[in-house]
Amino acid sequence: MKSKYTRKNIITLPDKRLREKSARVHVITDETLRLIDNMLAATLDWENSRPHEIAVALAAVQIGAMERVVIIREDFNDKSNQNFTVLINPEIVKKEGKIVTEQEGCLSVKDVYGLVPRHEKVRVRAIDINGREVLIKSPNPFVARILQHEIDHCNGKCFIDHITHDHTAFSILTGDGDLVPIKYEKVVGMGILKDD
Ligand SMILES: [Zn+2]
Repeated sequence: MKSKYTRKNIITLPDKRLREKSARVHVITDETLRLIDNMLAATLDWENSRPHEIAVALAAVQIGAMERVVIIREDFNDKSNQNFTVLINPEIVKKEGKIVTEQEGCLSVKDVYGLVPRHEKVRVRAIDINGREVLIKSPNPFVARILQHEIDHCNGKCFIDHITHDHTAFSILTGDGDLVPIKYEKVVGMGILKDD
């Protein structure tokens, strides 16, 4: 049966579940597969509503399922390629290289973008949809960033939690698709920061 999930099923800050740890998946069941279908449906519906953005990944917590499951797009430059890689129980086994700071956004943090420092290389262990262990070496800093962002979600951490004390790191997406800086106080006013 086709998933009925839409972007309305995506939870956003300040929903408290986004700051909670998800549980490991012990057995991949039909319910797990349904969860993945729901994640895909919600992600693609979100993307269809956002002309200036591409949905690169989603963690299960973002549709309110507290399980360690993430989906990551196969091709970030081609919106017509709607294939995603599924990672179950993903964990970072090694962080390498320099720490680089780049703009990051999130389907659960509406319109707000921020500069987040991340390692430029990671190695991740996970299981795939068939229950087989996979070891992933990030092919570039962008994918390394996505992996760190999604694994953070499994641990109850949002990207803005990395930058709560940097007062010049935040931007907002305008209706025309431009990112313009916003004042830290404005982000505080949204009630989405962890410390407030
Ligand atoms: Zn996110």
